[in-house]
Amino acid sequence: MTILDISVPVSGSMPIFKGDPMVNIARTADMSKGDPYTLTRIDLGVHTGTHVDAPLHFVRDGAAIEQLDLNALIGPAYVVDLSRVDGEITARDLDATHLPGGAERILFKTKNSALWEKPGFQEDFVALAADGARWLVERQVRLVGIDYLSVEVYGSTDFAAHHILLDAGVIILEGVQLKDIAPGVYELLCLPLKIQGAEGAPARAVLIQE
Ligand SMILES: [Zn+2]
Repeated sequence: MTILDISVPVSGSMPIFKGDPMVNIARTADMSKGDPYTLTRIDLGVHTGTHVDAPLHFVRDGAAIEQLDLNALIGPAYVVDLSRVDGEITARDLDATHLPGGAERILFKTKNSALWEKPGFQEDFVALAADGARWLVERQVRLVGIDYLSVEVYGSTDFAAHHILLDAGVIILEGVQLKDIAPGVYELLCLPLKIQGAEGAPARAVLIQE
C-alpha cells in the first residue's frame, strides 16, 4: 500500500486566491528563544490551499463543513487526465474521459498542477464549465476535486459551477496537487477540519494505491 499526499503545504508564501485572507503563521512561544515549549498560532481563511467547500459556501442555510457525510469524503476516487484542456472543463471533455458509471469521486488532473510551482496566485487556471458541473450532478457524483484554488472560472460573477454542485450536495475539494499522480483509481481519504458552522475547511487529502 502506498500513500500519496495530494495536499499542498500551508505556509506564509503559498498562493492565496485573490481577495482571500493571507496566511500568517507565528510562534507565540519558541524553545529556541528560551521558552519552555514551542507553540504556533495560525491565521488563515478556510479556503486556503487544499480545502473542502461545504454547501453553506453558496447555499443559504446549506450544510456546514462538520455536517458533511464522511462517506462522501472517503472511498474510491478516479483521477482523470484533463491535461489537454484549456480554460474550462466541459461536459464534452468529461464524456471523453470514459469514466465508468457509478464513479462517486472524481479528481481532475489538469495543467493547474504546474501552477503551484509559480509564485503568487495565478488567474489563468483551468476551471469547470456549468455544463461540466451539470454532467457531474446528473451522474450523481458525490465529490469533485480540482488541482488549483477554485472550480470556478476566474472572474465569474454568477458562480455557476459552485451553485450547480453545492445546490446538489456535491462536495468540492479544491487545491489538490496531482502533478505526480498517474490517472487511475485510488482510495481517497479527505478529512476537512471540523470547524463548527464554517462553509469550508482546510483538509489533508491523500490517495491510497493498493
Ligand atoms: Zn473553496
